[in-house]
Amino acid sequence: MHNGPGWKLTTFIILGMIVGALWGQFGLFDAAAPITGDHWTKLTGDLVLIRPLKLLVIPLVLFSVVAGVSRIGDPKALGKLGGCTLAYYFGTMLIAVTLGAALVTFIQPGDLSEAATAALKASGETAFHANSSLSERVSGQSMQGTWTNILYQMVPTNIVTEMSAGRPLGVIVFALGLGIALAAGGEKTKAARDFFSAGFEALLILVTWVIWLTPVGVFFLVAWTVGTIGIQRLIEPIGWYMFAVFVGLLIHGAIILPFILRLLGGTNTPYKFMNQMKPALLTAFGTDSSSATLPVTMETAEHAGGCSKKSSNFVLPLGSTINMDGTALYEAVAVVFLFQLFGIDLSFTHLVIVVITATLAAVGAAGIPSAGLVTMVIVIGAVNAALPEGSQTLPVWSIGVILGVDRILDMCRTTVNVWGDAVGAKVMTRIAPD
Ligand code: ASP
Repeated sequence: MHNGPGWKLTTFIILGMIVGALWGQFGLFDAAAPITGDHWTKLTGDLVLIRPLKLLVIPLVLFSVVAGVSRIGDPKALGKLGGCTLAYYFGTMLIAVTLGAALVTFIQPGDLSEAATAALKASGETAFHANSSLSERVSGQSMQGTWTNILYQMVPTNIVTEMSAGRPLGVIVFALGLGIALAAGGEKTKAARDFFSAGFEALLILVTWVIWLTPVGVFFLVAWTVGTIGIQRLIEPIGWYMFAVFVGLLIHGAIILPFILRLLGGTNTPYKFMNQMKPALLTAFGTDSSSATLPVTMETAEHAGGCSKKSSNFVLPLGSTINMDGTALYEAVAVVFLFQLFGIDLSFTHLVIVVITATLAAVGAAGIPSAGLVTMVIVIGAVNAALPEGSQTLPVWSIGVILGVDRILDMCRTTVNVWGDAVGAKVMTRIAPD
């Protein structure tokens, strides 16, 4: 066992971010001609970091879940781990989303001057309609559709199709079955068990090499983000909304999750664990994708964070697709903010609807950039349907209002998503030690 890439890597990543942000603000940002998604800095970041990481995700999910599950073996122990993991995921997401709903109700970021409100609405509508891929993605969203989709992904008919489409849920389910069968096979299947555990170790070694690309990738991605948005957005009227999201994520990530880790994980030093997980958290921030970060999360959780293989091999892949504390919290804040901005009063019942649907919508969001922004329309639809008949509803184009600043918030919520997964793996290490 080694200690992982450690402080050197962390220092390089942080440096990459700071220099990238400075370059983005002072070298790339131009309010009159903003850079777009096909700017070369974004393309370079994709090439250097996102694509190599994504390449590892599906093989890693397959090998890690098969190796982890066959190591646990006993279906009863597996059931206990699975049940506790799901309870942890839903429990923490509900806490996050409730915190978000409470904060946005308290801060009231949508209570702005008439002029500011009108300006935000006008620019939001233009931004939404100008972004044809977003309006297309949004139009197909519904609660029923999302859940049918999840269920279909969980019962795939062709594992190769799932793998080639990069859909991890079906791969996890298949790997779960295969792992149990390999454990049940005893001596007969020992060679296959060894193959999967050795393959997993090899993939982790590959990850330790790819991880060194993180500082460079993050440099380009952060430069691009700041170059498109500009730091001054933080002090514009929409800054209050961003403030509510930041505060919520900070409370959840820095107070609630460490508390849960202490309480359920029996870890007396939760912040030490946070420190150990830094490479993964910074990669999440830089790449904006918990799925692409999964290789780094697994490597760091096992080698630096002291999570057991039995726990992390199973908890982290599942978590990267369904456990999204940051996204759940963000969806609640964003939806309530938009209703406030449009002057539509929400009752307590409406807030309860927000809490439930935002949790489900966060589960349905994939671990990729701006997935939460798209599944948010499910929450908007649910609240609209519960408003008194004939009253004003929130148009879907309203998400154009928050579109421009979404990337920065996405980076922060992705970090909390990954941190929530890591805390889950540490807590479950108690249930499934190696
Ligand atoms: N980008 C987030 C993630 O990968 C999902 C989202 O909230 O958009 O975890």
